[in-house]
Amino acid sequence: KEFRNNVKPNWCPGCGDFSVQASIQRAAANVGLEPDNLAVVSGIGCSGRISGYINSYGLHGIHGRSLPIAQGVKMANRDLTVIASGGDGDGFAIGLGHTIHAIRRNIDITYIVMDNQIYGLTKGQTSPRSDVGFKTKSTPQGSVESALSVMEMALTAGGTFVAQSFSSDLKELTSLIEQGIQHKGFSLINVFSPCVTYNKVNTYDWFKENLVKLSDVEGYDPSNKEMAMQTLMQNKGLVTGLIYQNKEQKSYQELISGYSEEPLVESDLQLEKDQFEKLVAEFM
Ligand code: SF4
Repeated sequence: KEFRNNVKPNWCPGCGDFSVQASIQRAAANVGLEPDNLAVVSGIGCSGRISGYINSYGLHGIHGRSLPIAQGVKMANRDLTVIASGGDGDGFAIGLGHTIHAIRRNIDITYIVMDNQIYGLTKGQTSPRSDVGFKTKSTPQGSVESALSVMEMALTAGGTFVAQSFSSDLKELTSLIEQGIQHKGFSLINVFSPCVTYNKVNTYDWFKENLVKLSDVEGYDPSNKEMAMQTLMQNKGLVTGLIYQNKEQKSYQELISGYSEEPLVESDLQLEKDQFEKLVAEFM
């Protein structure tokens, strides 16, 4: 079960994305997957490169569109474990519509967002996750827009597995990815993954000082949605751990009728050669 390949990541030394990559690799091995059971689909951004750094099926897609592609992969081959991934700009700006609808659809894939609160690949602009007052080249006088509260948004959109972690906490992050893979439905894991090159505010030290681990909160119950929302609001969203899980809600695949028992990729389309060629020509 070797999920490492020989491609050397070209992230900056110290980038949080290294730990996210390692956590995905460990989690996949821990839940007993083989490389050909896993597909990793990513969007555009520094973090989007991750699909090329894991020994599995991989697809580096287009900006903000990792989720439509990942959902298509899962619908075509239910036997694959599918992980979608990308950054906060990818998933919470250009891709936000897809994110919300994938959450409410509850399709059985895991979405891991590497949230560094900035656009790193394009050299440091304010993102939807940047805080008010955050200064970058695109907001030289400080951002006047409030940061998107993504965990609260996921709860109100009907999320059945909502979690958050910190890239430095490999143990917690790996465990959450394992739980997300095993969850029967859509799992969203937002990971604070510092950009050491362009974000000089939300640093490793800043997160260590400001994050609250839910495992340290006495009586916290991740099956209680009201408690989840209150805890997020009380801590300005700066919590890590399993925030909410609904194990009762059926997944999209379980609810739609006619979803084949066998993976679509293995079904016999019974197309004649000319019919097949005509179909292919439509996409050319
Ligand atoms: Fe990571 Fe930031 Fe470097 Fe991109 S620019 S690789 S996000 S540290």
